[in-house]
Amino acid sequence: MPADKSTINPFETAKKQVDIVCDLININGGVREMLKAPKRELTVNFPVLMDSGDHRIFTGYRVQYNMARGPCKGGIRYHPGVTLDEVRALSAWMTWKCAVVGLPYGGAKGGVICDPKHMSRIELERLTRRFAFEIAPIIGPEMDIPAPDVYTDSQTMAWIMDTYSMIKGYSVPGVTTGKPIAIGGSEGRGEATGRGCSYVIREAAPFAKVKVKGGSVAVQGFGNAGSVAANLLHDEQGAKIVAVSDSQGGIHNPAGLNPHEVEAHKAKTGTVVGFPGARSVSNEELLELKVDVLIPAALENVITKKNADKIQAKIVAEAANGPTVPEADKILYDKKIVVLPDILANAGGVTVSYFEWAQDIQGFFWTLQEVNQRLEQVMVSSYAAVRKEAETRQVHNRTAAYVVAISRVVDAIQRRGIYP
Ligand code: NAD
Repeated sequence: MPADKSTINPFETAKKQVDIVCDLININGGVREMLKAPKRELTVNFPVLMDSGDHRIFTGYRVQYNMARGPCKGGIRYHPGVTLDEVRALSAWMTWKCAVVGLPYGGAKGGVICDPKHMSRIELERLTRRFAFEIAPIIGPEMDIPAPDVYTDSQTMAWIMDTYSMIKGYSVPGVTTGKPIAIGGSEGRGEATGRGCSYVIREAAPFAKVKVKGGSVAVQGFGNAGSVAANLLHDEQGAKIVAVSDSQGGIHNPAGLNPHEVEAHKAKTGTVVGFPGARSVSNEELLELKVDVLIPAALENVITKKNADKIQAKIVAEAANGPTVPEADKILYDKKIVVLPDILANAGGVTVSYFEWAQDIQGFFWTLQEVNQRLEQVMVSSYAAVRKEAETRQVHNRTAAYVVAISRVVDAIQRRGIYP
């Protein structure tokens, strides 16, 4: 994790972002305050039987930020560093992400303070089922729909879905997304984030004066989001993937790497490092390579005021959440680098989660081709809305994306009115 992470309170950042946009679009008074306050927060302390025979008490959170546009949506993370303020911030960002791509959802997030790397599978199952039971009163297909996040996966979602279904007495597949296909998961969910990112890069390329076909791409974080984006840009759009990295370091070959071969190498050795025919680069150097497209797809806070001036890419497509700190944004904008902000560039995942939920509640499932076509429509129209806002207001894409998102949430709040 970057050194400055612990000093930044993410919820303070999230509230500042709202204020900046509210100043711009003239939202004041109670509505502005509503946009900075989570609607509902649940903290649960619950016992879990450990393999040692002892019980341990764990603390978990579920925060529902705003429900004006529909049921809340957001992941659950398992991590020793989970805090309530982090979960609040993530739930705010989910609210804006769902709104910017026009999903009929509000935002939520959950987390449990635990160290999944040091827990057995059965301990994780017991923890998940008890946490699901504790938050069951406030989740459900019409209320709040969890999904995977850091150190949770399709199995975790299956356990939550099963626990919730046991409470109800019948199967409720629409209570979580990111599930295995066998119990109501969607085709295309696994690669949706990278695929959505590849579509927005394609859409932004003419404006950034980039030719994706033959253009160079560097990817920091060759995991789920990053490797899928690299594969699709290579296979479908003819891009040259010149550098990729993971937590152990990076590789660079200006002539281009075959991302599928790099994937096979990583599957065999556990890292992209040591891939034949490529030189080693550090994660810091990778960010500063002269490329057409840079995709940060690993951690937050990697583009800072220290290195923003050295970024040479024409497009920065944020597959990761929060890779650019606010002070760096202005530097990138002044350098005329086209930033595709996280709430837009990685919204493909939540979009196909929405498709999964829609399929589950209808009990009618779509083909992979249908899923991908609808995802493409959502990403293309969302990019166009953000670009239009950026041009109208002469602001950078991140501000424009927040303006689009927050305006939609405000519109919903105002049309519904305040109860009672
Ligand atoms: P992942 O675990 O599959 O991949 C993360 C990759 O980053 C791995 O290759 C890992 O080795 C690498 N990494 C870890 N530490 C690193 C470091 N210090 N320097 C460079 N690389 C490092 O995770 P993912 O699902 O692909 O998520 C990556 C980012 O995308 C996160 O910010 C996540 O929040 C965001 N995101 C993912 C999805 C999704 O559907 N997967 C959706 C929205 C946003």
